[in-house]
Amino acid sequence: MQVTRGLYIGRFQPYHGGHQAVLEQISREADEIIVGIGSAHASHTPTDPFTAGERIAMIYGALRKLRRWFYVIPLPDLNRNAVWVSHVKSMTPPFETVYSNNHLVVELFTEAGMHVKRPPLYQRDTYSGTAIRKLMLEGAEWKHLVPEPVAEVIDEVGGVNRLRNICQSD
Ligand code: NAD
Repeated sequence: MQVTRGLYIGRFQPYHGGHQAVLEQISREADEIIVGIGSAHASHTPTDPFTAGERIAMIYGALRKLRRWFYVIPLPDLNRNAVWVSHVKSMTPPFETVYSNNHLVVELFTEAGMHVKRPPLYQRDTYSGTAIRKLMLEGAEWKHLVPEPVAEVIDEVGGVNRLRNICQSD
């Protein structure tokens, strides 16, 4: 029997409960899950504070309970959108379906003839990387919005302090 694989790409800055809800859906539809860490080269900026390695640790911790075989693959960005799908395919195991709500990602994979699904957004205002980073900067509570292993990684690397330091003005 042929194995089916679903690809989910995101920046995961940080990985949160909305991402987890989508991956729970994919785990019910595909035999194996591929998580592509977009903008893998980026870190230590206000919008991309965490390294690819830190995001890998977050996602491995969060996905352990899904009981599905999964791959987590860093994908550095390319300056050329027109060849990005080939770049992604060259770095990942074969897959049948791409899951995304990012307009550019949907457009590029659709143009390449791939099957794309747009999973429902889960409480988008609350479960959003931008909103969670803002809470961190304000010193407000954010840990309830991410799976527990993600909060542990952020604590381990001093993520909140890092974000505050890189967002300081001169
Ligand atoms: P993201 O972490 O913001 O989101 C990942 C996915 O989760 C998206 O599909 C988003 O719609 C979904 N999501 C977010 N909140 C959700 C919620 N509450 N409930 C359900 N789903 C939710 O990452 P992103 O910005 O979509 O990542 C796309 C990546 O692809 C980026 O790293 C981008 O640079 C990369 N990319 C690169 C190129 C290139 O290099 N040329 C081209 C296209 C895309």
